Parts: sequence; structure tokens; C-alpha cells
Amino acid sequence: MKKLCLIGSPVSHSKSPIIHNTACKLLDIDYHYDLVETDTDTIEDVVSDLKKNYTGWNCTMPVKGAMAKLCDELSDVSKITGAVNTVYNHEGKLYGTTTDGLGFIHALEDEGIQIKDKKIVMLGAGNAATTLYVTCALEGAKEIDIFNRKQSKNYIATQNRIHQLHTLCNCQLHLYDLSDEDALVSACSNADLLINGTSVGMADTINQMPVPSTLCLHKQLVVVDLIYAPPLTKLLEEAKKAGCSTYNGEGMLLYQAAESFKIWTHHNMPVNELKRLLNINMKV
Ligand code: NAP
Repeated sequence: MKKLCLIGSPVSHSKSPIIHNTACKLLDIDYHYDLVETDTDTIEDVVSDLKKNYTGWNCTMPVKGAMAKLCDELSDVSKITGAVNTVYNHEGKLYGTTTDGLGFIHALEDEGIQIKDKKIVMLGAGNAATTLYVTCALEGAKEIDIFNRKQSKNYIATQNRIHQLHTLCNCQLHLYDLSDEDALVSACSNADLLINGTSVGMADTINQMPVPSTLCLHKQLVVVDLIYAPPLTKLLEEAKKAGCSTYNGEGMLLYQAAESFKIWTHHNMPVNELKRLLNINMKV
């Protein structure tokens, strides 16, 4: 049996094992996906063990950046973001990439939404948001306005990354302070998609929205929240009331898994069967 896993901390709540193990059962292929609790202090030892008998692994917080540094080769997107969520172990050589961006794009395509030539407003500039705006820029989005708290280290890193992206593609990217409501309302007024890539709306911020008010919401806007627990965040609830089309993070979760699965097993994940069996539905 070939082995796959998720490393990070905490990992016990993850839905990845059920998605990957159900896919392997449906395809009748001999892989097993498990969980390995790992933090930045233990990652070097864990990876040297995994190299001996694991075909590949996913990474989550807080080891996405540390894992990228341990890879022998990185994809173009991971070179820009400095983070990986997927590692393929080819005879002891580690190839790292991130499948969140393509997973996000494929999940939207499955709902009939394309990002090519679209204007996107991205809330947040952490790991997930960065992977998404970098991938969307490289995959043909027309314009991306990013909003993050100005005092964060992510803000400076984003300024630098925007300069780099402007040398690599035609997408126009701009960065604003998340508290600048006028800029947000103006950016959303002619945008196609509003994406919440912050963690506001889950756990201890479950009753909060990542935006200062609902003024930025209008019915032409497609609103996607990367959060999937809860399935209907406060932002999505308000966006529904404003007449927007609304989607949560379940689609991205499934499709990023499908991209990783293909890299490791060379099989297409049976996403439609999984949606049915595991009750995965991003339209809310
Ligand atoms: P991260 O790297 O820690 O980034 C967190 C982001 O949220 C940063 O932009 C941070 O801003 C912002 N933020 C946090 N608290 C805030 C607050 N009170 N007000 C305003 N902004 C705040 O985390 P991540 O890995 O990118 O994850 C972000 C979200 O995406 C999480 O909800 C996660 O569950 C979700 N996600 C979903 C999937 C999926 O498959 N659906 C995959 C990955 C992540 P600062 O820079 O100012 O701190």
C-alpha cells in the first residue's frame, strides 16, 4: 500500500483523509491517507521520515512555508508565494507546489464561473489569499484589488509581490487598507467577484464580517468565502440578502484535493461521486 498524509498543526479536524480515502476506494487503488501532527520545530525530522515511505503529502498551517524550503524543486506559483500545500516524493527528491489556486479556479468553473478577464476583489493577503491572487493573475484575471490590514507584515509582502507579478503578467493588481471602506465600495462597484480570503467569519469571529459594512455588496457580484465551517458565514448571509450569488469554501477544498491526488496517483479524482457521497456543495 502507498502512503499519503497531511502534515501541520492542528490536523485532527481535517476533511482531507475522508476525501482522499473515499476517492481511493471508489477507484480501487491501493493508497492510504493519514494525518501527521507537525509544527515548524519538528518538520525537518518528520519530512526525513516521510521521505522513506510516503508517496506524497499535503501541508497546512503552520508548515506551508517551512516545507517549501525543504523541497528540491518548486512550481512557478510556489516560487512566488514561498509556500506549498502539496509535496510529491519522487525517489527521495521532493517537488512542491500549491494546488489551492487551481482548485479554486476549477471549483468555480464547475459552477459556470470563469476568472479569465474578470475583475476580482480579494479580502486578505495571508497564505490562501496570496495563492489565489497569484494564480488568478497568472491564469488571466484582468484586475485584482487586494484589501488587507495595513499594519500586517502581509501588507508589505504583498506590495513586493505585486511588483513581481506586474513583470510576469498583464493583470493589474492594487493593494488597499481593509479599513478603507470608500476604496472597497468603489473596487466592488465594477467587480465580478468578491472573495473572502481572511479567517474572519469562523471560530471566534463567527458573527463578524471581514468588510466594514454591506455597502460593497450588489447583486451583480459573485461572493465566495473560502471558509467552509460554518457553511454560511455572516458575509455570505448578507451577500445573499443583497442578491449576490454566493459560494463557500467546500468546492475549493474538494478541487485542491483533486489536483494533489492527480499529482500523486496520476488518476482523476471522481469529484462528482464524492460531492454526492460526502454531501459537498459550495453553492449556498
Ligand atoms: P492566514 O495565512 O493566517 O491568513 C489570514 C488572513 O486573515 C490574513 O490576511 C489576516 O490579515 C486576515 N485576518 C485575520 N484576522 C483578521 C481580522 N480580525 N480582521 C481582518 N483580517 C484578519 O490563513 P490562511 O491559511 O490564508 O486561511 C485564511 C482562510 O482561508 C481561513 O478561513 C481558512 O479556513 C480558509 N482556507 C480555506 C481553504 C479551502 O480549501 N476552502 C484552504 C485554505 C484556507 P493580517 O495579514 O492583517 O493578519
